[in-house]
Amino acid sequence: MTLAAWNMPAWAQLGERRKRNALPHALLLAGPSGLGKREFAEAFAALQLCERPGDFACGACRSCRLYAVRTQREPAETRPDGSLAHPWGHSNHPDTRFVGFALNEQASPKKMFGDIVVDQIRELSAWLVLAPQYEKAQVAIIDPADKLNVAAANALLKTLEEPGPGRYLVLVTSEPARLSATIRSRCQRIEFRVPKIELAMDWLAAQGVDARAAADALDASDGNPGLALEWLRGGGMTLRAEVAKDLREVNAGIANAFDVAQRWGREQPGLRLSFAAALVRQQSRALMRGGRDVSPAAGPLALTRAVELSKLATWFDFANRTRDLLRGPIRPELAMLDLLRDWAGAASRNVQGGHG
Ligand SMILES: [Zn+2]
Repeated sequence: MTLAAWNMPAWAQLGERRKRNALPHALLLAGPSGLGKREFAEAFAALQLCERPGDFACGACRSCRLYAVRTQREPAETRPDGSLAHPWGHSNHPDTRFVGFALNEQASPKKMFGDIVVDQIRELSAWLVLAPQYEKAQVAIIDPADKLNVAAANALLKTLEEPGPGRYLVLVTSEPARLSATIRSRCQRIEFRVPKIELAMDWLAAQGVDARAAADALDASDGNPGLALEWLRGGGMTLRAEVAKDLREVNAGIANAFDVAQRWGREQPGLRLSFAAALVRQQSRALMRGGRDVSPAAGPLALTRAVELSKLATWFDFANRTRDLLRGPIRPELAMLDLLRDWAGAASRNVQGGHG
């Protein structure tokens, strides 16, 4: 397994500690999705289990070959957004465990748990007490650690207190603030940050993305290369362009807020709102940078400097609140309609001052 270039400094630091026999027993990999936290966690597990470890696991020994054999459970374990809980499956290596969203067998019909529950952590703790079968180490990955429910988090604390020699826990989270302070304090934290644009461009090029598409997608994702790739491959960039067009047309009175709200509510409402909020924030920044002597920075929303930035900021908050609302029992079309009507108001100065 190779890691993205931007994660190599943290990997090298961990390697140094490993050579000094000073590895922490619990790691907390924290940072936005799309930066390679899970790859890092899995590479770490492989390295601890490898029989001929170098800077990375050798990839060829008995342990490495076993570690690489993966299976998905049946039915597939998924996160609330529908993606796989363990993107490359569970490992067949007996000395590693991946803990994440699991199936609630007791529910009727069976369905995925919405959290990581205490039974999963109890089972993990019982397993960690056993001797490793290959006599090297035992490594557990908990992803996403912010989804541990209260009872599960309390159970995990006990394990974090005395993990035993050769036992390693890797917690993965994009929302570290949601973890209790006690859990955070017992882990060595590794921060994942959006890389320099050159590294992100190189990485996207290596995935076969041409430079122009890469630059556009990185612009949309605030420089997050994993997210950029996901949007390029999954149609997200097309959806973003559609959202920008809708906002432009609602603002200009060409499109009807009601029709747009129906469409937004029907299909991928959450992602549309993320794009809408991000577009507004990006355009606000562009307008702020614009200064008085620069011609209006039209951008994808075709706003001009005449629009009040404070109104855009308020709308940005409104869009984010609406996205939270979608998790509740609300009809998405109605929430969208409120928001889009408000948008017509927030951006209205544009209509009057747009051609000035
Ligand atoms: Zn190996």
